Amino acid sequence: MHNPYRRSVLLITLAVLIAGWLGAYAFTLWRLRDAALSGGLEAATTQARNFEQHLTQTLEMIELIALGLAPGQSTESVGERFGAQMNDALRKAPYLRSLSLADAEGRILYSTTPGNVGSRLALRGFFPDLAADSTMIHIGQRWQGRDLAGAGAFTPLAATKGAASRQPAFIPVLRRIGDNGQPYWVVAAINPEYFVLHFTQLLPETEGRVQLLRHDGTLLLSSRLDELPGHSQAAGRVEDLLAQHESGALAQTLPDGAAVLTAYRASSRFPALIAVHLQRETILENWRSEARRISLVVFPVLFALTVSIVLVWRRQQRLDQRERELAGQRKLAASVFEATTNAVFLTTPGGDVITVNPAFERITGYRADEVVGRNPRLLASGVHDRAFYADLWHGIQENGHWHGEIVNRRKDGSLFHGQLSITAVTDDAGRLLHYVGVTADITERKQYEAEILAAKEKAEAASLAKTTFLATMSHELRTPMNGVIGMTDVLLRSAIDDKQRRQLEIIRASAGALMSILDQILDYSKIETQTLQLADAPFDPAALVGELATLFTPPATAKGLRLRSCLAPDLPACLHADPVRLRQILTNLLSNAVKFTRDGEIVVDASFAAPDRLCIAVSDTGIGIAPEMQQQIFAAFTQVDGSTTREFGGTGLGLASSRRLAEAMGGSLEVASTPGQGSRFTLCVAARRD
Ligand code: ADP
Repeated sequence: MHNPYRRSVLLITLAVLIAGWLGAYAFTLWRLRDAALSGGLEAATTQARNFEQHLTQTLEMIELIALGLAPGQSTESVGERFGAQMNDALRKAPYLRSLSLADAEGRILYSTTPGNVGSRLALRGFFPDLAADSTMIHIGQRWQGRDLAGAGAFTPLAATKGAASRQPAFIPVLRRIGDNGQPYWVVAAINPEYFVLHFTQLLPETEGRVQLLRHDGTLLLSSRLDELPGHSQAAGRVEDLLAQHESGALAQTLPDGAAVLTAYRASSRFPALIAVHLQRETILENWRSEARRISLVVFPVLFALTVSIVLVWRRQQRLDQRERELAGQRKLAASVFEATTNAVFLTTPGGDVITVNPAFERITGYRADEVVGRNPRLLASGVHDRAFYADLWHGIQENGHWHGEIVNRRKDGSLFHGQLSITAVTDDAGRLLHYVGVTADITERKQYEAEILAAKEKAEAASLAKTTFLATMSHELRTPMNGVIGMTDVLLRSAIDDKQRRQLEIIRASAGALMSILDQILDYSKIETQTLQLADAPFDPAALVGELATLFTPPATAKGLRLRSCLAPDLPACLHADPVRLRQILTNLLSNAVKFTRDGEIVVDASFAAPDRLCIAVSDTGIGIAPEMQQQIFAAFTQVDGSTTREFGGTGLGLASSRRLAEAMGGSLEVASTPGQGSRFTLCVAARRD
């Protein structure tokens, strides 16, 4: 539960961070855009103010010129008197085509353009409307033509766009001079191109347009040549706003579809106003390139941030995975700790118990809270001496480990046997962290072992008693038997008849057989009681084999068997061992071979394996031994079956004694046999070369 929770917290953090960055980025862009737009509005406002001032100054100049002309004179004298002044004023006013003086009916009395004199000025269409007592500047519609003479009202419908821009035009401005009884009109023909030039110099056509409007909303001129004068509403919502405020700024879409930032400002004194429209797109273009520059910084940073967060996240995931595995291992270890039947305790480096498992409580009888904080020494039984514990601590300090049996005392005072392992737990730097002790309760096993040992000792004692009895018996029997044999021999040498001789010989043979059985029993007893003494005498193995062959040829031949010996060429001429015991074993093997072979042959092989191994094998073509009997025949008093015993006789002691003898001589006696085909007994003994 923990890890998925942490992962989702991380994911959310990541998302929030990225969203935060994107949000901050978007906010910055929005602020910049806002700043660009308000900057645009400010720029438009500044320009509108400048142009308005220019316009006002221009109109003021016209007014001043008009006021400079004194009224109340005859027509001729006005013309004469002011001709020079007007021409003079015109030279200083490059924005005027002409200055003229008209009478109350509009007839041109005098003009700086002589061609104008006499022509009649239509007095309609001015704003504000002309009144006889007006002392205001009146601004007319834009007129078509170079000057008053021959000029006609500008008709937007008739004029094509191209034509409108190319054809000369002027804007008439009127100011009444003279008293009410004899009014005159000073007519100034303003050259629109002068304004257009001024406007386009300060605001190129690509960035926006400047409009000069009359207070009634009529467009007098625009820095955009294709914008036709005479229109109302050419400045969009400016006309509406003007009713409330003399100046203002707004974002809007003009009737021709252009999205603009507009600032307008009415002349402070005259019925005209300036509207500056900055192209919204041009302003936003700057903002866009700014945004692109910021993006160049923001996105790589955002990317790097995301990548690093993802990397951190993945690392965290790997750590989580590792943590899960460790938790699993810890859980496993804890369950082993809980479930094991061995008592486990964990101590500090100082030996104070930190924790014990349930098995510890069960085995020792102490509850965990009774041992925690104490030394495991509280289990000491007093059975072991100081040296035992010294050895234990030495083992731990030297090897980090001690393993051995210990007798401890339970809480109830009873003792128990434990198989104790103490291990020092260190960290990677080798600093000691804990000791862990694990004790298997082996009390029952110990009891069992003790019982077995006692039983074994008892059995061994009984066996020894039996063997000793056998040895004593056979030894005791030999003495009278020697008497029997000795006296039989004496009798045999005395003068006796044939019948008595045959009877005595039977006694003699029987006594001999009995003696050999007694000898075997005595031998076996000696081996069993380990009282047998082995000699270390020099002998010639070839000679030994030769003697035995000579000895066993007569009984073999008597049974129709062939006996031959086969000596390895590298057989040493002299070896050291116990030749008497060797002969005894080989005699036993050969007598068995003769005994258990009805026809065929008996072969004696002798070989020497360096450095000190003499091997003599006796093979026969006799009845053989069943596989399951092949090991049993080496046990004392064992014969393959009753019938063979009856047929072949024997005690079942020969092979048992022989194998023990061979082992006592540092060698072995083995059999390989196939029932019905024959057997091969191989005797190997340690025999030192000279
Ligand atoms: P025993 O005095 O009966 O010969 P051994 O210990 O010498 O006692 O032999 C034990 C038994 O092993 C024999 O009774 C016989 O059954 C079997 N045995 C020993 N040698 C041979 C052999 N060469 N061929 C077949 N059986 C043999």
